[in-house]
Amino acid sequence: LSNRTEPFQYTVWTEFTPLAIKNQAVNLGQGFPGFKCPDFVKQALADATNADENQYARSQGFLPLVQEIARVYGRKHNREINPLTEVVVTVGATEGIMSSFLGMIDEGDEVVIIEPSFDCYIPAIIMNGGKPVGVPLIPPQPGETLWNIDFERLESAFNERTRVFMINTPHNPIGKVFSRQELERIAAILNKWPNVAIISDEVYEYVIFDDREHLSIADFSNLWERTVTLSSAGKIFSITGWKTGWAVGGPYVIKKIATSHLWNPYCSNTPCQGAVARCLRIADEPYNGFPNYYLWLRNEYSRKREILYNLLKNAKTLNLDPIMPEGGFFLCARVDPSVIDRSYLETATPDFAFSRWLTEQIKICTIPCSAFYLPEHKQDGENLVRFALCKDYSDYEAAAKILINDN
Ligand code: PMP
Ligand code: GLN
Repeated sequence: LSNRTEPFQYTVWTEFTPLAIKNQAVNLGQGFPGFKCPDFVKQALADATNADENQYARSQGFLPLVQEIARVYGRKHNREINPLTEVVVTVGATEGIMSSFLGMIDEGDEVVIIEPSFDCYIPAIIMNGGKPVGVPLIPPQPGETLWNIDFERLESAFNERTRVFMINTPHNPIGKVFSRQELERIAAILNKWPNVAIISDEVYEYVIFDDREHLSIADFSNLWERTVTLSSAGKIFSITGWKTGWAVGGPYVIKKIATSHLWNPYCSNTPCQGAVARCLRIADEPYNGFPNYYLWLRNEYSRKREILYNLLKNAKTLNLDPIMPEGGFFLCARVDPSVIDRSYLETATPDFAFSRWLTEQIKICTIPCSAFYLPEHKQDGENLVRFALCKDYSDYEAAAKILINDN
């Protein structure tokens, strides 16, 4: 392996998904929907391939899809979006992240990230020669839910070498939804650094709870031109295997992603792009008693959040302290190391020990949160595990059966 890839052979997904399968555990770990995607989504893919949308697409995105994305995100950002220059369709948001860094940073450039952060950010930065500068959020006090930003620390993370700032809302793993006040303060810091590009990962944009609203940093103080906002059909339509995502933003920053994407992979697969274009039209129509598909989706996740929270709260033998999320696919909980079989703690931090023990012995899979931190900040996640909200009702029933029998 090259020195570039050598350090990045391990991920929690390649450990815990096979471990869940091997142990026939209820998989509340990796964040892929445990339920079937809607029928209109399956029909859209059949329609796309029947319409002979089967050859290479335009590199920067299949025309019908970039036009739909420009329409949907134009409405969202309240501006005219040029489908040809302000959109790029990627192989999932993961490629959007990798292509952004490949196109934006040179050797030694710094990238300011907020921690915890989705686990592909740090490898993508380092493999492209950059240096991640982590600003850990302040964890909530026991019994509270708010993760706070240390604004002084955030401000001091920027310097002349900073090329990119990266944010994720709603957040994976902690479920934070950045508020208007927080984004205003972040935008004020960014205004002091006009040459810094911004990557905003908003793949969970439609999964927002209670009366919160999803806000994009691109819409604050004219940051549009230097911000790329990422999303993914995988999360919106429950089709993570399609690996179809996109970036929208100013032409200058979109060009950087489009140029990386031109060489790897050249284009995203065409039938899925054609199908997602159809889905974005259908999503605006009434769905299952809701005014549109997005409101139905939000309601489903809200229900699952309640079910999962109550399940974990009531699992007395686990003695977890669940933290109610504000949005996204996940719910984190603090662990009590004293419930774990001691042998697991001899070789691992409490979060890894708990996750391995729960998967192997209790048959429920969860994900350790120190995986979402830089080495120097891992201790912030070592008592935290992440459970997925995006599973089927039957998965939560199966978990309840185990935990209730256990009690
Ligand atoms: N960003 C975040 C925050 C995620 O949780 C994920 C989940 N997979 C991705 C990006 C990658 O999305 P995709 O599956 O579209 O590559
Ligand atoms: N985003 C998903 C999660 O956080 C899956 C990640 C992946 O498979 N790379 O669980």
